[in-house]
Amino acid sequence: MAGLFRRMVSGLKSRRWLLIRRTLQILIVLAFVVDIPEVGRIAHGNLSSSLWFWNVPLTDPFVLLQSLLAGAPLAKTALIGAAIVAGFYAFFGGRIYCSWVCPINMLTDAAHWLRQKLKIKGNLTLSRELRSVLLVMALVLSVVTGTLAWEMINPITLFQRELMWTSAAGVTFLAALFLFDFLVSRRGWCGHLCPVGAFYKWLGRYGRLRITALKIDACSGCSDCIKVCPEPHVLAPLVAQKAMTVTDSDCTRCGACLDKCNSGALAMKLDMHRGVSFRGIPIVKS
Ligand code: SF4
Ligand code: SF4
Repeated sequence: MAGLFRRMVSGLKSRRWLLIRRTLQILIVLAFVVDIPEVGRIAHGNLSSSLWFWNVPLTDPFVLLQSLLAGAPLAKTALIGAAIVAGFYAFFGGRIYCSWVCPINMLTDAAHWLRQKLKIKGNLTLSRELRSVLLVMALVLSVVTGTLAWEMINPITLFQRELMWTSAAGVTFLAALFLFDFLVSRRGWCGHLCPVGAFYKWLGRYGRLRITALKIDACSGCSDCIKVCPEPHVLAPLVAQKAMTVTDSDCTRCGACLDKCNSGALAMKLDMHRGVSFRGIPIVKS
C-alpha cells in the first residue's frame, strides 16, 4: 500500500506542470459555461472578447488587429481588454497562451499522446514558417474582405461555439484537426500551421519568463527534455550547453521539460536581464 502511494505521489510530481496547466485550461473553459449558484457566471463572451468578474474586459489582440484591418469600429472596452492581454503576453511570453489558455492545445496534445502510444511513424514534414505565412494571409484577407477572415474558421472560436451549440460541421472540423495531428503530421497544427500561435509568438518575442539551466553543467545531455518538448528546436542550444536560457519565442512555457528532467537541471524563471543571464553568464555562448 505504501509502495502504491509512493508511486502515485511520484507520478503526480513528474506531471505537476501538466496537471496545473490542464486544470487551468479546463477552469477557463468552464468559466464561460458554468453558472455558479449565488455567484453566476464568472466569464461572459469567449476567448476572442470577454468580460471577467463582471468588470475586467479581455480581448484577443489578434482579433482586435483583424478588426482594425477590416475597418470595424473599435469600442473603448475592446481596446482596454486588448491592452491588458497584450501587455501580459508581451511581458511574460506570448505562447503561454498556447499551453495555458487555448483549449485546442488539449485536443492536439491528446492527438500527440495517442500518436506516441500507438507508435505512429508516418509524418508529413511541414515548415514551421507556414504559420507565419498563414498569419500574414489572415491579416491581408481581413483588409481585402473587410471581415474577421480567420475568425470564420478559427478552431479556438469553433471549440467554444461547439460547447454551446454543437453542430455537425464544427465537430467534423475539430475531428479533422485531431486526425491530422494524430495520423498525418507530428505536432502539425500548433507547431506548424496555427496563425494564432504565430501571432502570440511574435507578440511575446521578448517575454521574460524563461526556461533556464540552473548551472551550465547541470544538464547531463540526455535530451529527454527535447523528446517531450512541443517545439524541440528551442531547447537544442541549452542541451548542447551553448546557452543558459531558452530565448526562442516558440517556447510555450508548458513545463513539459521540467516534468521530464530527472537531474533537476532546469527551472522556469523570470529573467529580467538583456543579453546576460541572471548570474552574469551569457545567455547564448558564441
Ligand atoms: S498554436 Fe494555435 S491552436 Fe495551438 S495552442 Fe496555440 S493558439 Fe491554440
Ligand atoms: S522548452 Fe520546455 S517549456 Fe518551452 S516548449 Fe519546450 S518543453 Fe515546453
